[in-house]
Amino acid sequence: MAPTDDTTPAAASAPVDFIRTIIDEDLRAGKNHGRLATRFPPEPNGYLHIGHAKSICLNFGVAEERGGTCNLRFDDTNPTKEDVEYVESIKADVAWLGFRWDAMFYASDYFEQIYQFAEQLIRKGKAYVDELTADEIRAYRGTLTEPGRNSPWRDRPAEESLDLFRRMRAGEFEDGKYILRARIDMGSPNLNMRDPALYRIRRAHHHRTGDTWCIYPMYDYAHPLSDALERITHSLCTLEFEDHRPLYDWCVDNLIEGDKPQQIEFARLNLNYTVMSKRKLLQLVQQGHVAGWDDPRMPTISGLRRRGYTPESIRNFCARIGVAKKENVIDVAQLEHSIREDLNKRAPRVMAVLSPLKVVITNYPEGRVEEVDVINNPEDASAGTRKVPFSRELYIERDDFREDPPKKFFRLAPGREVRLRCAYFITCTEVVKNADGEVIELRCTYDPATRGGDAPDGRKVKATLHWVSASHALDVQVRLYDRLFNVPDPDDVPEGRTFIDHLNPESLQVITHAKAEPSLASAKPLDRFQFERLGYFCVDADTQPGALVFNRTVSLRDTWAKIEAKQD
Ligand code: ATP
Ligand code: MG
Repeated sequence: MAPTDDTTPAAASAPVDFIRTIIDEDLRAGKNHGRLATRFPPEPNGYLHIGHAKSICLNFGVAEERGGTCNLRFDDTNPTKEDVEYVESIKADVAWLGFRWDAMFYASDYFEQIYQFAEQLIRKGKAYVDELTADEIRAYRGTLTEPGRNSPWRDRPAEESLDLFRRMRAGEFEDGKYILRARIDMGSPNLNMRDPALYRIRRAHHHRTGDTWCIYPMYDYAHPLSDALERITHSLCTLEFEDHRPLYDWCVDNLIEGDKPQQIEFARLNLNYTVMSKRKLLQLVQQGHVAGWDDPRMPTISGLRRRGYTPESIRNFCARIGVAKKENVIDVAQLEHSIREDLNKRAPRVMAVLSPLKVVITNYPEGRVEEVDVINNPEDASAGTRKVPFSRELYIERDDFREDPPKKFFRLAPGREVRLRCAYFITCTEVVKNADGEVIELRCTYDPATRGGDAPDGRKVKATLHWVSASHALDVQVRLYDRLFNVPDPDDVPEGRTFIDHLNPESLQVITHAKAEPSLASAKPLDRFQFERLGYFCVDADTQPGALVFNRTVSLRDTWAKIEAKQD
Protein backbone atom coordinates (compact mmCIF):
# COMPACT_ATOMS: atom_id res chain seq x y z
CA MET A 1 0.00 0.00 0.00
CA ALA A 2 1.49 3.35 -0.97
CA PRO A 3 2.00 5.44 2.16
CA THR A 4 1.38 9.12 2.36
CA ASP A 5 4.45 11.22 1.75
CA ASP A 6 5.46 14.51 3.26
CA THR A 7 6.18 16.41 0.07
CA THR A 8 2.66 17.26 -1.10
CA PRO A 9 0.65 19.41 -1.07
CA ALA A 10 2.26 22.74 -0.33
CA ALA A 11 1.13 24.55 2.80
CA ALA A 12 -0.98 27.64 2.34
CA SER A 13 0.93 30.90 2.35
CA ALA A 14 0.48 33.15 5.33
CA PRO A 15 -1.74 36.21 5.17
CA VAL A 16 -0.19 39.65 5.61
CA ASP A 17 -0.09 40.49 9.32
CA PHE A 18 1.22 43.54 11.17
CA ILE A 19 4.78 42.19 11.21
CA ARG A 20 4.80 41.49 7.48
CA THR A 21 3.44 44.99 6.98
CA ILE A 22 6.29 46.54 8.97
CA ILE A 23 8.86 44.44 7.13
CA ASP A 24 7.42 45.34 3.75
CA GLU A 25 7.56 49.03 4.63
CA ASP A 26 11.17 48.69 5.81
CA LEU A 27 12.13 46.88 2.62
CA ARG A 28 10.40 49.50 0.51
CA ALA A 29 12.13 52.30 2.41
CA GLY A 30 15.51 50.62 1.93
CA LYS A 31 16.10 50.28 5.66
CA ASN A 32 19.00 47.95 6.60
CA HIS A 33 20.28 48.44 3.05
CA GLY A 34 17.22 46.60 1.82
CA ARG A 35 18.13 43.41 3.67
CA LEU A 36 15.76 41.15 5.59
CA ALA A 37 17.30 38.81 8.13
CA THR A 38 15.38 36.96 10.84
CA ARG A 39 16.31 34.20 13.27
CA PHE A 40 14.60 31.55 15.32
CA PRO A 41 16.31 31.51 18.72
CA PRO A 42 15.28 28.50 20.83
CA GLU A 43 16.88 27.81 24.15
CA PRO A 44 18.01 24.17 24.00
CA ASN A 45 16.37 23.28 27.30
CA GLY A 46 13.52 21.15 25.99
CA TYR A 47 11.80 19.97 22.84
CA LEU A 48 9.99 22.37 20.56
CA HIS A 49 6.21 22.62 20.89
CA ILE A 50 3.39 23.86 18.70
CA GLY A 51 3.89 27.38 20.08
CA HIS A 52 7.42 27.34 18.72
CA ALA A 53 5.97 26.23 15.38
CA LYS A 54 4.15 29.56 15.25
CA SER A 55 7.42 31.41 15.73
CA ILE A 56 9.25 29.14 13.26
CA CYS A 57 6.59 29.63 10.59
CA LEU A 58 6.75 33.37 11.13
CA ASN A 59 10.55 33.77 11.12
CA PHE A 60 11.37 31.28 8.37
CA GLY A 61 8.17 32.00 6.48
CA VAL A 62 8.63 35.75 6.22
CA ALA A 63 12.26 35.34 5.12
CA GLU A 64 11.32 32.73 2.53
CA GLU A 65 8.47 34.79 1.09
CA ARG A 66 10.40 38.04 0.94
CA GLY A 67 13.82 36.86 -0.20
CA GLY A 68 15.47 37.26 3.19
CA THR A 69 17.50 34.92 5.36
CA CYS A 70 16.64 33.13 8.58
CA ASN A 71 19.15 31.68 11.00
CA LEU A 72 18.69 28.98 13.55
CA ARG A 73 20.34 30.20 16.72
CA PHE A 74 20.58 28.25 19.93
CA ASP A 75 20.23 30.65 22.79
CA ASP A 76 22.49 28.68 25.07
CA THR A 77 23.43 31.32 27.63
CA ASN A 78 22.06 29.38 30.59
CA PRO A 79 24.46 26.46 31.02
CA THR A 80 22.59 24.48 33.64
CA LYS A 81 19.45 23.46 31.80
CA GLU A 82 20.79 22.87 28.34
CA ASP A 83 21.61 19.66 26.58
CA VAL A 84 22.76 18.34 23.17
CA GLU A 85 19.75 16.02 23.03
CA TYR A 86 17.61 19.15 22.80
CA VAL A 87 19.85 20.70 20.14
CA GLU A 88 19.48 17.63 17.94
CA SER A 89 15.72 17.42 18.41
CA ILE A 90 15.29 21.11 17.59
CA LYS A 91 17.24 20.80 14.34
CA ALA A 92 15.25 17.73 13.35
CA ASP A 93 11.94 19.43 14.13
CA VAL A 94 12.67 22.61 12.18
CA ALA A 95 13.80 20.57 9.18
CA TRP A 96 10.77 18.31 9.42
CA LEU A 97 8.48 21.32 9.37
CA GLY A 98 10.05 22.02 6.00
CA PHE A 99 12.35 24.96 6.75
CA ARG A 100 16.03 25.38 5.94
CA TRP A 101 18.16 27.72 7.96
CA ASP A 102 20.64 29.91 6.12
CA ALA A 103 23.11 29.52 8.97
CA MET A 104 23.16 27.86 12.35
CA PHE A 105 24.76 29.51 15.35
CA TYR A 106 24.99 29.25 19.07
CA ALA A 107 24.91 32.28 21.32
CA SER A 108 27.89 30.64 23.00
CA ASP A 109 29.82 31.17 19.75
CA TYR A 110 29.74 34.85 20.68
CA PHE A 111 30.79 34.56 24.32
CA GLU A 112 34.18 36.17 23.66
CA GLN A 113 32.71 39.04 21.61
CA ILE A 114 29.92 39.55 24.09
CA TYR A 115 32.52 39.70 26.85
CA GLN A 116 34.53 42.29 24.91
CA PHE A 117 31.38 44.37 24.48
CA ALA A 118 30.98 44.32 28.26
CA GLU A 119 34.51 45.68 28.69
CA GLN A 120 33.58 48.45 26.26
CA LEU A 121 30.54 49.33 28.34
CA ILE A 122 32.66 49.46 31.48
CA ARG A 123 35.19 51.75 29.82
CA LYS A 124 32.39 54.03 28.67
CA GLY A 125 31.02 54.21 32.20
CA LYS A 126 27.92 52.29 31.10
CA ALA A 127 28.49 49.27 33.30
CA TYR A 128 29.97 48.55 36.72
CA VAL A 129 30.86 45.65 38.95
CA ASP A 130 28.52 45.53 41.91
CA GLU A 131 29.06 43.66 45.12
CA LEU A 132 25.67 43.91 46.72
CA THR A 133 24.21 40.51 47.54
CA ALA A 134 21.30 39.18 45.54
CA ASP A 135 18.93 40.10 48.38
CA GLU A 136 20.33 43.62 48.60
CA ILE A 137 20.03 44.10 44.87
CA ARG A 138 16.38 43.11 45.12
CA ALA A 139 15.81 45.54 47.99
CA TYR A 140 17.55 48.37 46.12
CA ARG A 141 15.56 47.75 42.98
CA GLY A 142 12.38 49.39 44.26
CA THR A 143 8.89 48.45 43.09
CA LEU A 144 6.48 49.35 40.35
CA THR A 145 5.40 52.37 42.40
CA GLU A 146 8.70 53.30 44.05
CA PRO A 147 11.96 54.13 42.31
CA GLY A 148 15.07 52.09 43.07
CA ARG A 149 18.19 53.30 44.88
CA ASN A 150 21.69 53.50 43.50
CA SER A 151 24.09 50.81 44.61
CA PRO A 152 27.02 52.21 46.66
CA TRP A 153 29.30 50.62 44.01
CA ARG A 154 27.60 52.34 41.10
CA ASP A 155 30.24 55.07 40.83
CA ARG A 156 33.19 52.76 41.22
CA PRO A 157 35.92 53.96 38.79
CA ALA A 158 35.84 52.20 35.43
CA GLU A 159 39.40 50.95 35.92
CA GLU A 160 38.39 49.22 39.13
CA SER A 161 35.32 47.64 37.55
CA LEU A 162 37.40 46.49 34.62
CA ASP A 163 39.94 44.88 36.92
CA LEU A 164 37.23 43.14 38.94
CA PHE A 165 35.40 42.02 35.82
CA ARG A 166 38.58 40.45 34.42
CA ARG A 167 39.18 38.70 37.69
CA MET A 168 35.57 37.48 37.67
CA ARG A 169 36.33 35.91 34.34
CA ALA A 170 39.60 34.46 35.64
CA GLY A 171 37.71 32.62 38.34
CA GLU A 172 39.07 34.49 41.36
CA PHE A 173 35.71 34.85 43.10
CA GLU A 174 33.05 32.47 44.23
CA ASP A 175 29.61 32.40 42.58
CA GLY A 176 27.47 35.41 43.41
CA LYS A 177 30.28 37.47 44.97
CA TYR A 178 30.24 40.07 42.19
CA ILE A 179 27.93 40.93 39.36
CA LEU A 180 28.31 43.15 36.32
CA ARG A 181 25.42 45.59 35.95
CA ALA A 182 24.44 48.05 33.27
CA ARG A 183 24.52 51.63 34.50
CA ILE A 184 21.22 52.98 33.24
CA ASP A 185 18.64 54.50 35.57
CA MET A 186 17.53 53.29 39.00
CA GLY A 187 14.61 55.72 38.77
CA SER A 188 13.24 54.35 35.51
CA PRO A 189 9.56 53.43 35.61
CA ASN A 190 10.62 50.29 33.72
CA LEU A 191 12.20 47.87 36.18
CA ASN A 192 14.20 46.26 33.41
CA MET A 193 16.11 49.53 33.06
CA ARG A 194 17.13 49.79 36.73
CA ASP A 195 20.74 48.78 36.26
CA PRO A 196 19.98 45.25 35.03
CA ALA A 197 22.51 42.46 35.50
CA LEU A 198 24.71 41.77 32.49
CA TYR A 199 27.03 39.05 33.81
CA ARG A 200 26.98 36.75 36.79
CA ILE A 201 29.54 34.33 38.14
CA ARG A 202 28.34 30.79 37.70
CA ARG A 203 30.56 27.75 37.87
CA ALA A 204 28.58 25.50 35.61
CA HIS A 205 29.63 23.15 32.87
CA HIS A 206 28.33 24.34 29.51
CA HIS A 207 27.31 21.79 26.91
CA ARG A 208 29.48 23.47 24.28
CA THR A 209 32.06 25.66 25.97
CA GLY A 210 32.74 23.18 28.76
CA ASP A 211 34.52 24.86 31.67
CA THR A 212 36.05 27.71 29.66
CA TRP A 213 33.75 30.21 31.31
CA CYS A 214 32.72 30.76 34.88
CA ILE A 215 30.83 33.95 34.08
CA TYR A 216 27.77 33.89 31.84
CA PRO A 217 25.93 36.78 30.15
CA MET A 218 22.25 37.39 30.91
CA TYR A 219 19.75 36.68 28.18
CA ASP A 220 18.60 40.32 27.87
CA TYR A 221 22.15 41.39 27.20
CA ALA A 222 23.34 38.47 25.04
CA HIS A 223 20.28 38.36 22.83
CA PRO A 224 20.42 41.81 21.18
CA LEU A 225 24.17 41.45 20.68
CA SER A 226 23.78 38.01 19.12
CA ASP A 227 21.17 39.53 16.82
CA ALA A 228 23.48 42.39 15.90
CA LEU A 229 26.47 40.10 15.31
CA GLU A 230 24.40 38.05 12.89
CA ARG A 231 23.14 41.26 11.28
CA ILE A 232 19.56 40.34 12.02
CA THR A 233 17.20 43.09 10.86
CA HIS A 234 13.94 42.05 12.53
CA SER A 235 14.11 40.27 15.86
CA LEU A 236 10.67 38.75 16.33
CA CYS A 237 9.73 37.58 19.79
CA THR A 238 6.74 37.05 22.03
CA LEU A 239 4.91 39.74 23.99
CA GLU A 240 6.51 39.06 27.36
CA PHE A 241 9.62 40.77 25.98
CA GLU A 242 7.81 44.01 25.23
CA ASP A 243 9.01 45.60 28.50
CA HIS A 244 12.53 44.44 27.72
CA ARG A 245 12.66 46.27 24.42
CA PRO A 246 14.15 49.47 25.89
CA LEU A 247 17.01 47.37 27.25
CA TYR A 248 17.39 45.63 23.89
CA ASP A 249 17.66 49.05 22.23
CA TRP A 250 20.02 50.32 24.92
CA CYS A 251 22.45 47.46 24.29
CA VAL A 252 22.33 47.92 20.54
CA ASP A 253 22.55 51.73 20.67
CA ASN A 254 25.55 51.69 22.98
CA LEU A 255 27.54 49.01 21.21
CA ILE A 256 26.55 48.62 17.59
CA GLU A 257 27.49 50.83 14.66
CA GLY A 258 25.45 50.88 11.45
CA ASP A 259 22.27 48.86 10.91
CA LYS A 260 20.57 47.98 14.14
CA PRO A 261 18.22 45.05 14.68
CA GLN A 262 14.67 45.94 15.64
CA GLN A 263 12.68 43.90 18.15
CA ILE A 264 9.01 43.34 17.36
CA GLU A 265 6.72 41.43 19.68
CA PHE A 266 3.73 39.25 18.82
CA ALA A 267 1.26 37.24 20.88
CA ARG A 268 2.30 33.71 21.76
CA LEU A 269 0.15 30.78 20.80
CA ASN A 270 -2.04 29.41 23.57
CA LEU A 271 -4.15 26.30 23.04
CA ASN A 272 -6.94 25.12 25.26
CA TYR A 273 -6.62 21.67 26.93
CA THR A 274 -2.86 22.07 26.58
CA VAL A 275 0.12 23.22 28.61
CA MET A 276 2.85 24.83 26.58
CA SER A 277 5.69 25.77 28.86
CA LYS A 278 8.82 23.68 28.45
CA ARG A 279 9.19 23.52 32.21
CA LYS A 280 5.78 21.88 32.51
CA LEU A 281 6.34 19.59 29.57
CA LEU A 282 9.62 18.51 31.18
CA GLN A 283 7.75 17.79 34.39
CA LEU A 284 5.27 15.57 32.51
CA VAL A 285 8.21 13.63 31.06
CA GLN A 286 10.27 13.42 34.24
CA GLN A 287 7.36 12.32 36.40
CA GLY A 288 6.32 9.70 33.89
CA HIS A 289 2.87 11.10 33.14
CA VAL A 290 3.72 10.59 29.48
CA ALA A 291 6.12 8.19 27.79
CA GLY A 292 8.57 10.90 26.66
CA TRP A 293 8.88 14.21 24.86
CA ASP A 294 7.51 12.55 21.73
CA ASP A 295 4.54 10.91 23.41
CA PRO A 296 1.70 11.39 20.91
CA ARG A 297 -0.33 13.23 23.56
CA MET A 298 2.34 15.92 23.94
CA PRO A 299 1.96 19.27 22.13
CA THR A 300 5.60 18.96 21.06
CA ILE A 301 6.48 18.88 17.38
CA SER A 302 7.92 15.40 17.89
CA GLY A 303 4.76 14.29 19.69
CA LEU A 304 2.53 15.66 16.94
CA ARG A 305 4.73 14.01 14.31
CA ARG A 306 4.48 10.66 16.09
CA ARG A 307 0.77 11.18 16.46
CA GLY A 308 0.49 11.46 12.67
CA TYR A 309 0.41 15.20 12.02
CA THR A 310 1.93 16.29 8.73
CA PRO A 311 4.24 19.32 8.46
CA GLU A 312 1.74 20.92 6.08
CA SER A 313 -1.11 20.58 8.55
CA ILE A 314 0.93 22.39 11.20
CA ARG A 315 2.01 25.09 8.77
CA ASN A 316 -1.54 25.57 7.56
CA PHE A 317 -2.70 25.81 11.15
CA CYS A 318 -0.09 28.49 11.85
CA ALA A 319 -1.05 30.41 8.73
CA ARG A 320 -4.70 30.27 9.74
CA ILE A 321 -4.30 31.46 13.31
CA GLY A 322 -2.21 34.36 12.07
CA VAL A 323 0.07 36.70 13.94
CA ALA A 324 -1.29 39.50 16.08
CA LYS A 325 -0.41 41.63 19.05
CA LYS A 326 -3.24 40.50 21.32
CA GLU A 327 -3.13 37.35 23.49
CA ASN A 328 -5.86 34.79 22.85
CA VAL A 329 -6.54 31.09 23.28
CA ILE A 330 -6.97 28.93 20.21
CA ASP A 331 -9.32 25.95 20.30
CA VAL A 332 -7.32 22.73 19.98
CA ALA A 333 -10.16 21.55 17.70
CA GLN A 334 -8.75 23.95 15.13
CA LEU A 335 -5.43 22.09 15.13
CA GLU A 336 -7.31 18.81 14.75
CA HIS A 337 -9.29 20.30 11.90
CA SER A 338 -6.11 21.11 10.00
CA ILE A 339 -4.81 17.53 10.12
CA ARG A 340 -8.20 16.08 9.16
CA GLU A 341 -8.40 18.39 6.21
CA ASP A 342 -4.92 17.39 5.04
CA LEU A 343 -5.32 13.64 5.56
CA ASN A 344 -8.77 13.61 4.03
CA LYS A 345 -7.09 14.60 0.78
CA ARG A 346 -4.18 12.23 0.85
CA ALA A 347 -4.45 9.39 3.36
CA PRO A 348 -5.23 6.06 1.73
CA ARG A 349 -8.33 4.36 3.12
CA VAL A 350 -8.00 0.92 4.61
CA MET A 351 -10.21 -1.31 6.72
CA ALA A 352 -9.44 -2.29 10.28
CA VAL A 353 -11.62 -3.49 13.11
CA LEU A 354 -10.84 -2.26 16.59
CA SER A 355 -13.20 -4.42 18.58
CA PRO A 356 -13.63 -7.58 16.49
CA LEU A 357 -16.78 -9.65 16.36
CA LYS A 358 -16.58 -12.81 14.26
CA VAL A 359 -19.03 -13.26 11.40
CA VAL A 360 -19.40 -16.64 9.68
CA ILE A 361 -21.14 -16.60 6.31
CA THR A 362 -22.85 -19.92 6.34
CA ASN A 363 -23.70 -20.08 2.63
CA TYR A 364 -20.21 -19.05 1.49
CA PRO A 365 -18.12 -22.02 0.39
CA GLU A 366 -15.51 -23.19 2.88
CA GLY A 367 -11.94 -22.57 1.81
CA ARG A 368 -12.90 -20.10 -0.90
CA VAL A 369 -11.13 -16.73 -1.01
CA GLU A 370 -11.92 -13.99 -3.46
CA GLU A 371 -10.52 -10.54 -3.83
CA VAL A 372 -12.78 -7.55 -3.95
CA ASP A 373 -11.76 -4.18 -5.35
CA VAL A 374 -11.80 -1.39 -2.79
CA ILE A 375 -11.36 2.31 -3.53
CA ASN A 376 -8.18 3.75 -2.00
CA ASN A 377 -9.31 7.34 -1.69
CA PRO A 378 -12.67 8.74 -2.78
CA GLU A 379 -11.09 12.24 -2.65
CA ASP A 380 -8.34 11.28 -5.08
CA ALA A 381 -9.29 9.29 -8.17
CA SER A 382 -5.63 8.78 -9.06
CA ALA A 383 -5.17 6.72 -5.89
CA GLY A 384 -6.99 3.84 -7.62
CA THR A 385 -8.22 0.64 -6.01
CA ARG A 386 -6.70 -2.32 -4.23
CA LYS A 387 -7.62 -5.97 -3.77
CA VAL A 388 -8.89 -7.01 -0.37
CA PRO A 389 -9.43 -10.70 0.44
CA PHE A 390 -12.95 -11.81 1.34
CA SER A 391 -13.75 -15.22 2.81
CA ARG A 392 -16.28 -17.17 4.84
CA GLU A 393 -15.08 -15.88 8.20
CA LEU A 394 -14.81 -12.18 8.79
CA TYR A 395 -14.56 -9.66 11.58
CA ILE A 396 -16.82 -6.69 11.93
CA GLU A 397 -16.89 -4.01 14.61
CA ARG A 398 -18.65 -5.20 17.75
CA ASP A 399 -20.44 -1.85 17.93
CA ASP A 400 -21.94 -2.45 14.50
CA PHE A 401 -24.20 -5.17 15.86
CA ARG A 402 -27.06 -4.94 18.37
CA GLU A 403 -29.16 -7.84 19.39
CA ASP A 404 -31.97 -5.48 20.38
CA PRO A 405 -31.44 -2.48 18.15
CA PRO A 406 -32.84 0.80 19.41
CA LYS A 407 -34.97 2.86 17.03
CA LYS A 408 -32.22 4.79 15.27
CA PHE A 409 -29.78 1.90 15.03
CA PHE A 410 -29.58 0.90 11.37
CA ARG A 411 -26.60 -1.39 11.42
CA LEU A 412 -26.58 -5.16 11.82
CA ALA A 413 -29.20 -6.92 13.98
CA PRO A 414 -30.88 -10.32 13.89
CA GLY A 415 -32.77 -10.75 10.62
CA ARG A 416 -31.43 -7.52 9.19
CA GLU A 417 -29.52 -7.03 5.93
CA VAL A 418 -26.52 -4.64 5.61
CA ARG A 419 -23.74 -4.06 3.12
CA LEU A 420 -20.14 -5.08 3.71
CA ARG A 421 -18.13 -2.34 2.08
CA CYS A 422 -17.29 -3.09 -1.58
CA ALA A 423 -18.26 -6.76 -1.02
CA TYR A 424 -21.74 -8.20 -0.46
CA PHE A 425 -25.01 -7.75 1.36
CA ILE A 426 -25.25 -10.03 4.38
CA THR A 427 -28.20 -10.93 6.62
CA CYS A 428 -27.79 -11.98 10.23
CA THR A 429 -29.48 -15.32 10.82
CA GLU A 430 -28.13 -16.48 14.19
CA VAL A 431 -26.42 -15.05 17.26
CA VAL A 432 -23.92 -17.29 19.07
CA LYS A 433 -23.23 -16.61 22.76
CA ASN A 434 -20.85 -17.95 25.36
CA ALA A 435 -21.79 -19.29 28.80
CA ASP A 436 -21.87 -15.74 30.17
CA GLY A 437 -24.41 -14.72 27.57
CA GLU A 438 -21.96 -12.55 25.61
CA VAL A 439 -22.25 -12.49 21.85
CA ILE A 440 -19.15 -14.21 20.45
CA GLU A 441 -20.14 -14.86 16.85
CA LEU A 442 -22.74 -14.01 14.28
CA ARG A 443 -23.94 -16.39 11.61
CA CYS A 444 -25.03 -14.67 8.44
CA THR A 445 -25.92 -15.44 4.86
CA TYR A 446 -24.73 -13.47 1.91
CA ASP A 447 -26.38 -12.70 -1.41
CA PRO A 448 -23.91 -13.63 -4.19
CA ALA A 449 -25.77 -11.32 -6.59
CA THR A 450 -24.71 -8.24 -4.58
CA ARG A 451 -20.98 -8.54 -5.29
CA GLY A 452 -19.35 -5.12 -5.28
CA GLY A 453 -22.03 -3.82 -2.92
CA ASP A 454 -25.14 -3.28 -5.03
CA ALA A 455 -28.27 -5.40 -5.44
CA PRO A 456 -29.35 -5.97 -9.04
CA ASP A 457 -33.00 -5.81 -7.93
CA GLY A 458 -32.37 -2.33 -6.59
CA ARG A 459 -33.14 -3.14 -2.97
CA LYS A 460 -31.47 -0.88 -0.46
CA VAL A 461 -29.79 -1.39 2.89
CA LYS A 462 -29.40 1.27 5.53
CA ALA A 463 -25.84 0.60 6.60
CA THR A 464 -22.41 -0.18 5.17
CA LEU A 465 -19.96 -1.83 7.51
CA HIS A 466 -16.20 -2.17 7.32
CA TRP A 467 -14.81 -5.67 7.74
CA VAL A 468 -11.68 -7.78 7.44
CA SER A 469 -11.25 -11.42 6.46
CA ALA A 470 -10.47 -13.34 9.67
CA SER A 471 -7.77 -15.65 8.35
CA HIS A 472 -6.04 -12.85 6.42
CA ALA A 473 -6.26 -10.16 9.08
CA LEU A 474 -3.17 -8.72 10.72
CA ASP A 475 -3.27 -8.67 14.48
CA VAL A 476 -2.25 -5.11 15.37
CA GLN A 477 -2.03 -2.82 18.35
CA VAL A 478 -3.95 0.42 18.23
CA ARG A 479 -3.50 3.33 20.61
CA LEU A 480 -6.40 5.71 20.96
CA TYR A 481 -5.75 9.12 22.45
CA ASP A 482 -7.87 11.61 24.19
CA ARG A 483 -6.87 15.04 25.48
CA LEU A 484 -4.08 14.96 28.02
CA PHE A 485 -5.98 17.39 30.25
CA ASN A 486 -9.64 17.27 31.06
CA VAL A 487 -10.22 21.01 31.47
CA PRO A 488 -9.80 23.83 28.91
CA ASP A 489 -7.29 25.71 31.08
CA PRO A 490 -5.08 23.21 32.92
CA ASP A 491 -3.15 26.06 34.57
CA ASP A 492 -6.28 27.37 36.27
CA VAL A 493 -5.98 25.60 39.61
CA PRO A 494 -6.99 26.38 43.18
CA GLU A 495 -4.35 27.13 45.81
CA GLY A 496 -2.22 24.08 46.55
CA ARG A 497 -3.06 22.27 43.31
CA THR A 498 -1.12 22.11 40.07
CA PHE A 499 -1.82 21.45 36.40
CA ILE A 500 -0.93 17.80 37.10
CA ASP A 501 -4.24 17.49 38.96
CA HIS A 502 -6.04 18.11 35.69
CA LEU A 503 -4.45 15.21 33.81
CA ASN A 504 -7.05 13.09 32.05
CA PRO A 505 -6.60 9.53 33.39
CA GLU A 506 -8.15 8.18 30.19
CA SER A 507 -5.95 9.96 27.70
CA LEU A 508 -4.55 6.69 26.37
CA GLN A 509 -6.44 3.53 25.52
CA VAL A 510 -4.46 0.59 24.15
CA ILE A 511 -6.22 -2.00 22.01
CA THR A 512 -4.00 -5.04 21.74
CA HIS A 513 -5.77 -7.26 19.22
CA ALA A 514 -7.30 -5.08 16.58
CA LYS A 515 -7.63 -6.66 13.13
CA ALA A 516 -6.37 -4.94 10.02
CA GLU A 517 -6.51 -5.77 6.34
CA PRO A 518 -3.38 -7.50 5.00
CA SER A 519 -2.33 -4.65 2.69
CA LEU A 520 -1.01 -2.93 5.82
CA ALA A 521 1.68 -5.58 6.32
CA SER A 522 4.29 -3.40 4.60
CA ALA A 523 3.41 -0.19 6.46
CA LYS A 524 6.33 1.62 8.05
CA PRO A 525 6.58 4.07 10.94
CA LEU A 526 5.00 7.45 10.12
CA ASP A 527 2.86 6.04 7.29
CA ARG A 528 -0.64 7.43 7.59
CA PHE A 529 -4.00 5.96 6.74
CA GLN A 530 -7.65 6.46 7.20
CA PHE A 531 -9.21 3.44 8.88
CA GLU A 532 -12.64 3.64 7.33
CA ARG A 533 -15.24 5.00 9.71
CA LEU A 534 -12.74 5.15 12.61
CA GLY A 535 -10.37 8.01 11.95
CA TYR A 536 -6.87 8.73 10.76
CA PHE A 537 -4.05 6.52 12.02
CA CYS A 538 -0.29 6.63 11.84
CA VAL A 539 2.19 3.79 12.24
CA ASP A 540 4.05 4.22 15.52
CA ALA A 541 7.81 3.96 15.99
CA ASP A 542 7.24 1.06 18.42
CA THR A 543 6.27 -1.08 15.43
CA GLN A 544 8.31 -4.29 15.05
CA PRO A 545 8.33 -6.62 12.05
CA GLY A 546 5.04 -8.50 12.20
CA ALA A 547 3.79 -6.42 15.13
CA LEU A 548 2.30 -3.20 13.86
CA VAL A 549 1.37 -0.42 16.25
CA PHE A 550 -0.96 2.39 15.15
CA ASN A 551 -1.70 5.72 16.77
CA ARG A 552 -5.02 7.32 16.16
CA THR A 553 -4.14 10.81 15.00
CA VAL A 554 -7.68 12.08 15.13
CA SER A 555 -11.20 10.71 14.76
CA LEU A 556 -13.28 11.52 11.70
CA ARG A 557 -15.73 13.77 13.47
CA ASP A 558 -14.79 17.39 13.00
CA THR A 559 -16.06 19.57 15.81
CA TRP A 560 -14.20 22.60 14.48
CA ALA A 561 -15.80 22.45 11.01
CA LYS A 562 -19.16 22.54 12.80
CA ILE A 563 -18.14 25.52 14.89
CA GLU A 564 -16.93 27.33 11.76
CA ALA A 565 -20.11 26.52 9.86
CA LYS A 566 -22.14 28.04 12.69
CA GLN A 567 -20.05 31.19 12.62
CA ASP A 568 -20.49 31.66 8.87
P1 ATP B 1 8.50 28.18 26.97
O1 ATP B 1 7.87 29.38 27.63
O2 ATP B 1 7.55 27.23 26.35
O3 ATP B 1 9.51 27.50 27.84
P2 ATP B 1 10.39 29.83 25.70
O4 ATP B 1 9.85 31.12 25.22
O5 ATP B 1 11.20 29.84 26.94
O6 ATP B 1 9.24 28.78 25.73
P3 ATP B 1 12.44 29.61 23.75
O7 ATP B 1 13.25 28.42 23.43
O8 ATP B 1 13.11 30.75 24.40
O9 ATP B 1 11.22 29.10 24.59
O10 ATP B 1 11.64 30.10 22.46
C1 ATP B 1 12.17 30.26 21.20
C2 ATP B 1 11.31 31.20 20.44
O11 ATP B 1 9.99 30.68 20.33
C3 ATP B 1 11.20 32.54 21.13
O12 ATP B 1 11.32 33.55 20.18
C4 ATP B 1 9.83 32.52 21.74
O13 ATP B 1 9.31 33.79 21.84
C5 ATP B 1 9.06 31.63 20.76
N1 ATP B 1 7.94 30.98 21.43
C6 ATP B 1 7.97 30.23 22.55
N2 ATP B 1 6.74 29.84 22.91
C7 ATP B 1 5.89 30.36 21.99
C8 ATP B 1 4.47 30.32 21.81
N3 ATP B 1 3.67 29.67 22.66
N4 ATP B 1 3.95 30.97 20.74
C9 ATP B 1 4.75 31.63 19.88
N5 ATP B 1 6.08 31.70 20.00
C10 ATP B 1 6.66 31.07 21.04
MG1 MG C 1 12.83 31.41 26.82
